[in-house]
Amino acid sequence: MTGLFDQELAQLRTAHLARQRRQVMPLKAPVDLSADEEDLRGTHYLINGQARLSFGSNDYLGLSQHPAVITAAQEAAARYGVGATASPLVCGHSPAHEALEHELAALVGLPRALYFYAGYAANVGIIPALVGKGDAVFSDALNHACLIDGIRLSRAELHVVPHADLAALEQALQASTARRKLVVTDAVFSMDGNVADVPALMALCERHDAWLMIDDAHGFGVLGEHGEGTLSYFGMAGRDGVAPAWQGRMDRLIYMATLGKAAGVAGAFVAGEPSMVEWVLQKARTYMFATGTPAMIAEALRASVRVMQEEGWRRDHLRALQQRLREGVAAAGLPWHLMPSDTAIQPLIIGSNEAALAVMAKLDEQGVWVPAIRPPTVPEGTARLRISLSAAHTLAQVDQLVAALTQAVA
Ligand SMILES: *Cc1c(COP(=O)(O)O)cnc(C)c1O
Repeated sequence: MTGLFDQELAQLRTAHLARQRRQVMPLKAPVDLSADEEDLRGTHYLINGQARLSFGSNDYLGLSQHPAVITAAQEAAARYGVGATASPLVCGHSPAHEALEHELAALVGLPRALYFYAGYAANVGIIPALVGKGDAVFSDALNHACLIDGIRLSRAELHVVPHADLAALEQALQASTARRKLVVTDAVFSMDGNVADVPALMALCERHDAWLMIDDAHGFGVLGEHGEGTLSYFGMAGRDGVAPAWQGRMDRLIYMATLGKAAGVAGAFVAGEPSMVEWVLQKARTYMFATGTPAMIAEALRASVRVMQEEGWRRDHLRALQQRLREGVAAAGLPWHLMPSDTAIQPLIIGSNEAALAVMAKLDEQGVWVPAIRPPTVPEGTARLRISLSAAHTLAQVDQLVAALTQAVA
């Protein structure tokens, strides 16, 4: 057995596909920050004991280090204890969770929300609750791995549709004789940063009587005036409810978003029609058979969702950082290009796995940390540096990244 795994591990290393964990912690514990260290919060980390400026996290708004969020978790730990002690359907659901669900539904402008302990668990639970044998799922080729796992578990027929190809999707829907049809897509693609055309997808689903499930892991908090996410980006729904043009048309939508990225904490939620949400609550095995999330996480999330709405400057600043990076990379004349992206995810395409790792190493030598993303996470030959911007970054830090990239060419 040992020999077999050693051999397979050696193959991974030869293909430059072996992954390495790093031990990461904020450079200063946030509770110890004095005013002049404020700018280090959420941008500088000790990575394997070395101080680095990081562009690796999904903490797009810098909320994982926000004092109000930390205090909310501390106070809830004192009030509730630290464990949920059982499944939410037994005794792991608290007033904190209940309030959070109402606040999430109100923010995205949909009637009801259900909170899950992780996005992975949400997708793997929701899809098999909605569809099964005899049904068909239409999945964008670049969808996140956990959507694909959820589809596989459902045993519905899987149709992989070329990325963002509405004509191919329409053909596949037309040809299908399945009982139920479910179209599934990332709302913001996690390794590319582009936004799915949700209104066009909804219109297609209306024509072919299909449901649409969107995974807004990278749009929630980042897009929309108050961080409502992709539905608000397209003017479909938000804090003020469903837009007039979309009233009565949202019952085929299953909205899902995660809360460990821009919201800075952990977990995910599904939102939409009350009866759909109730069905997921009754049927999703990852909801039913897993211990609930500690109430301190729910209270931390309530605080972060409040801050997310109140501190609109975080989204404005993020936009300014995006623009600075794109202008900086264009002016530097690098041999690599940024993918078109309107979001915090700014992938720099390098090509081969080996080259991507080499650029990552050269940045690391200069104190800058950007993760290289390789297959199978992205297609063969498109290994990239996935630059993640955060409202915690400064414009000067983005300049530092561009300077380090310029150095890395040499
Ligand atoms: C991160 C991510 C998930 C998984 O969410 P977790 O809360 O990290 O389990 C699901 N979908 C997409 C698109 C993601 O990027």
